[in-house]
Amino acid sequence: MPRWEHLDYGVRVSQRARYPRLVVSPCRGLEVVVPRGFPPQHIPQLLERKRAWLRRVMAERAALASPLVPGVPEVLELRAIAQRWRVVPSDTVTDRVAARRDDGFLLVMPSSCVTVSQQREFLRRWLLGRANAFLIPWLQRLGAGAGLTWGQVRIRWQKTLWGSCSARKTISLNGKLLFLPAEIVRYVLIHELCHTVHLNHSAHFWQLVAAHEPDYLRCDRLLREALHWVPPLFLGD
Ligand SMILES: [Zn+2]
Repeated sequence: MPRWEHLDYGVRVSQRARYPRLVVSPCRGLEVVVPRGFPPQHIPQLLERKRAWLRRVMAERAALASPLVPGVPEVLELRAIAQRWRVVPSDTVTDRVAARRDDGFLLVMPSSCVTVSQQREFLRRWLLGRANAFLIPWLQRLGAGAGLTWGQVRIRWQKTLWGSCSARKTISLNGKLLFLPAEIVRYVLIHELCHTVHLNHSAHFWQLVAAHEPDYLRCDRLLREALHWVPPLFLGD
């Protein structure tokens, strides 16, 4: 999304427009509507000319800003990867997905613009992206270090199953693992990797687990009560 002096804006080409114009709306933020063929490099000048007007209109919008959708946590504590994200409603989020800022703020649409299920879906997609980016390389590092081979790795979003391993050595991991402490997640990864050798919970399996995680009994016990780490918004499917 283009940006002019801290202000994100969208550009829409209108077949009917003859002149460019600025539109500010509560959920879409600032939009520059331009006629076909309008050179985008002229947009900053256009905004510059409307500076006073923009400042006033954006301040009015900020004053009307509505809060987070009820039930959406203000903080997403991703213990597995030592990240903490503050979830803030923002009227500059114009597409309907959660936008991310690199300083630990996750911008989402305010309650006036989305329903709780839409909001949950946006956050779920964002979390799955994080899980893909962090859990898969983690599993690969652990597996390579332990000298174990696996097939594919998939991140899924499951109600209670934390991980699984198929006969073809495909390992599935629950994206909600992000909310669990790192030591428990590490145990889940080890557990599933060991299933690539023993596809059961035999004594041989547990011996192999113990070789890579001596504290596996405690981790396994903590895992059974691990749902309390997951924010209630994400407890369902
Ligand atoms: Zn198992």
